[in-house]
Amino acid sequence: MADTPNDTVAKIVSLCKRRGIIFQNSEIYGGIQGFYDYGPIGSLMKRNWKDLWWNSNITTRRDVVGIDGSIISHPKVWEASGHVKNFGDELVECKKCHHRFRPDLIDNAKNCPDCGGEFTAPKKFNILFHTEIGVIEGEKIPTYLRGEACQNIYLDFKNIVDSTRVKIPFGIAQIGKAFRNEITPKNFLYRTREFEQWDIQYFVRPEDMDKWYEYWKQNRMDWYQKYFNNQESLRFRQHQPDELVFYAKKAFDIEYHAPWGWAEMEGIHWRADYDLTQHSKFSGQDLNYLDPETHEKYLPHIVETSGGVDRSFFFLLLDAYNEEKLESGDIRTVLKINPQVSAYKMAIFPLAANKPELVTKAETLYQSLSQKFSIDWDDSSNIGKKYRRQDEIGTPFCTVVDYQTLEDNTVTIRDRDTMTQIRLKIDEIDNWLSTKLNS
Ligand code: ATP
Repeated sequence: MADTPNDTVAKIVSLCKRRGIIFQNSEIYGGIQGFYDYGPIGSLMKRNWKDLWWNSNITTRRDVVGIDGSIISHPKVWEASGHVKNFGDELVECKKCHHRFRPDLIDNAKNCPDCGGEFTAPKKFNILFHTEIGVIEGEKIPTYLRGEACQNIYLDFKNIVDSTRVKIPFGIAQIGKAFRNEITPKNFLYRTREFEQWDIQYFVRPEDMDKWYEYWKQNRMDWYQKYFNNQESLRFRQHQPDELVFYAKKAFDIEYHAPWGWAEMEGIHWRADYDLTQHSKFSGQDLNYLDPETHEKYLPHIVETSGGVDRSFFFLLLDAYNEEKLESGDIRTVLKINPQVSAYKMAIFPLAANKPELVTKAETLYQSLSQKFSIDWDDSSNIGKKYRRQDEIGTPFCTVVDYQTLEDNTVTIRDRDTMTQIRLKIDEIDNWLSTKLNS
């Protein structure tokens, strides 16, 4: 029988727990909904995923600079941004079992999907997380954990123009945590209450908006396509006129075909001068840009690309997950994830853990390669189990140091995707692996 959407998600959740990729937060206390921890393997993978984004958007571009902003800001920031007033979801509550739902996520059902009970009228809930600055009663300042990471970029805009040599058109980019008190966190990393976003705000002359909007829309799709195996599972979705905020001429999402249907992964937003106008108004500061050549003064317009790091990472896992039927009839689970994202680029095994000459030889190889690559080491006894573990965490190559290695300095290297094996001289592995990873 084919898997249901829930089965597929459950398989990823189970793999993530079994192999140290992602754990439910506070699991020993029964867990807490909408919060997750990345384990030893997942934290390596997520770091690689973020590095790829950072390299593509900041390191290799002269027109984009990065920041790393704080999670808590002045409370007025969230009034200016509109989040205090408008950052919310509609909610209905079942009168019988008191479970709460977002009507749009239960197809606007009239009755409770859990018990069939009747709903209350919909109410609006703000999803900002509240906190306080200060410890003395009466002097505490109420504020919020940031509901989206990008606000820091607008706040730092003037400082960046004044302190660096950026000239329009230019971008400011950031990866950072955001917090939303989501009413119905669900589908693992898809909708959580704490997550990371990667944002670029690209500042342009108002008349250049169309050109740059199209540029970033395509750039971001091309980037995702490099890392996803199934290209047909990525698409653009254009927002309908009634979905657009008043300042947006157009909006597109990059969507992934998740087991439960098409789902947003990143938004390409036409923000015009809305954010700088709001922050000028609320702060009383002049946020205009002075063109150093033409001496024109104006508020730049903004193209925003805003994606979820964890959400896209989850989609990447779904895309890479494969179950293959082997000739023996066994099922092989393999994560065919891009080697640049995988936690380890190679695993090294001595054929037998109780043969010191094999272990020493393998250790020397590990020491040398791990200076340059992320390498795993496994000297447990069962070779089949070792391959199974590496396949499940997506390690592209496994190297076995065996008796022949002691004679001719060659090793066996097994390919994750094809399971074919080659024999290679130890001295050649470094170059061979570099070439493989960059191809
Ligand atoms: P959604 O409609 O799914 O709630 P959104 O339109 O509110 O998302 P944005 O505010 O545009 O999302 O945020 C940009 C990106 O941040 C989204 O495309 C998504 O990848 C990610 N994101 C938003 N909310 C969450 C969440 N609760 N959990 C994980 N990622 C999220």
